[in-house]
Amino acid sequence: MPPAPLRTRFAPSPTGDLHLGGLLCALVSFALARASGGAFVLRMEDLDAPRVVEGSAARIEADLARLGLAWDEPAPDGRGAHAPYTQSARGALYEAALATLGELTYPCDCSRSELLAASAPHAGEERVYPGTCRDKDPARAMRRPPARRLRVPEGSVVEVVDLAAGPLRQDVGREVGDFVLRRGDGVFSYQLACALDDHAMAIDLVVRGRDLLASTPRQRLLGRLLGARRPPRTLHLPLLVNAAGER
Ligand code: GLU
Repeated sequence: MPPAPLRTRFAPSPTGDLHLGGLLCALVSFALARASGGAFVLRMEDLDAPRVVEGSAARIEADLARLGLAWDEPAPDGRGAHAPYTQSARGALYEAALATLGELTYPCDCSRSELLAASAPHAGEERVYPGTCRDKDPARAMRRPPARRLRVPEGSVVEVVDLAAGPLRQDVGREVGDFVLRRGDGVFSYQLACALDDHAMAIDLVVRGRDLLASTPRQRLLGRLLGARRPPRTLHLPLLVNAAGER
């Protein structure tokens, strides 16, 4: 039986040049799309404007093209059935997603130092937001431009079988807590933008580095809450390290 055509994507952040880990993800995405007769999508994740390096999106595209990793969407003029493919041009969609989530979101005016003081590092890396602002009056006077967090519903347990990393189970409320959808400076979070775009662009398979595995349950949960039909499968590749074990 021929494989079902897969829509895959490569979603680099143009914060520097294409590195080896990115290239590996692009190559695997490209190959799986081609081998299945599907489509390979290139999406620029340039929301974090202060970190964007001018010219790097164009250099990443040029490197992919030079290596023969031709993408099907967007077309050279930027068009395509799911345009725009650059996140900074998709703000209205993220805004609409926040509106859809409505009461499931709330403003948080905790400062960085308050967050650090209040949240113990969990499982080595993630800090669990303790819900400081969850039950405060959302109409109160804010001490700073507030972030917007997801009120993670009780019992949001997500089970995933990653095609490379295997089964994963996360109780998002307990292990992550109410996470940020839009930062205080107005930047939409990676979790929101990525979850929304993977669904909106009808991606079947997400290929990326193992460092993003722990984001998968948050993105699945958001997809579910936003009414997405079917979550994309995921394949998290091992990180490339040198002989000293460094990335
Ligand atoms: N833009 C993210 C990065 O370059 C990757 C996002 C993803 O593949 O989900 O780290």
